[in-house]
Amino acid sequence: MPPNFSLAIHGGAGTILHSDMTPGLQLQYETGLRQALDAGYQILENGGSSLDAVEASVMSLEDCPLFNAGKGAVFNNIGRHEMDAAIMFGKGSEAGAVCGVSNVKNPVRLARAIMQHHENVMLCGQGAEQFAKQHNIPFEDDQYFYTEERYKQWQQAQREDKVMLDHSGKKFGTVGAVALDKDGNLSAATSTGGLTNKKFGRIGDSPIIGAGTYANNNTCAVSCTGVGELFIRCVVAYDICCLIEYKGLSLKEACDIVVHDKLVKIGGEGGLIAIDKNGNIEMPFNSEGMYRACRSNAGINEIKIYP
Ligand code: ASP
Repeated sequence: MPPNFSLAIHGGAGTILHSDMTPGLQLQYETGLRQALDAGYQILENGGSSLDAVEASVMSLEDCPLFNAGKGAVFNNIGRHEMDAAIMFGKGSEAGAVCGVSNVKNPVRLARAIMQHHENVMLCGQGAEQFAKQHNIPFEDDQYFYTEERYKQWQQAQREDKVMLDHSGKKFGTVGAVALDKDGNLSAATSTGGLTNKKFGRIGDSPIIGAGTYANNNTCAVSCTGVGELFIRCVVAYDICCLIEYKGLSLKEACDIVVHDKLVKIGGEGGLIAIDKNGNIEMPFNSEGMYRACRSNAGINEIKIYP
């Protein structure tokens, strides 16, 4: 039996209605997901690390304006793009995260640079941006992050004076990837622009290790998408690992409890992707849909939006 390797990605969960989707738009989303899946899977196939794979997949999604991360990130309440990201390597529990950064082309790349610098786990705002400049992480001007769609959403949210979950319905366009490589190492990465019209300085679950992002070689790797505040309060990603480690549950059992019971009870709409140490993949969500895809050397190959 060849060693297992597998990759799963998401482009956000939420109220993704058939009625709002045209065949052309669906094709664009599927193409974006496929490109991100290819970017990470190629690395795994060639014997590369899960860390490189999740970074490559997330960077591909950050570069795609359809998703709420990197190019295409939503606007906050002062009309700026403030982005959060995290990455974690399950071997030795190494982690790096950034929150509230602007103009960084690929926040996940910055999170990885912080991780590899081994001094801190999380940097925010101007300090993170200064670190990025010192480590030659690419920047882009405001225009690069602008998309018409997000601008309209923001204008609507401003008019209605509310904080919106990406798109007009509730769709959380955060992106993420989890992977298991041939060496048995698990990794997870998540990147987001957060919520439309969010308070300047608001941080969601995505960059918080244990909440929106977590990986541990003994159990699994997890990347979340949904209402960040509730995912933080449920410590979602770490909870799934704990249910496996301390209670001996399977990945599926752990995901079911957290996504379909614990989160639902407190109104935590959203979903997650997870891969365990044996390469099993779960992509549960309690919302209407979740942009997601996965591939493994055991022959799994899926791109899906709806249940
Ligand atoms: N979890 C993200 C946040 O609250 C939003 C999302 O998943 O789109 O920042």
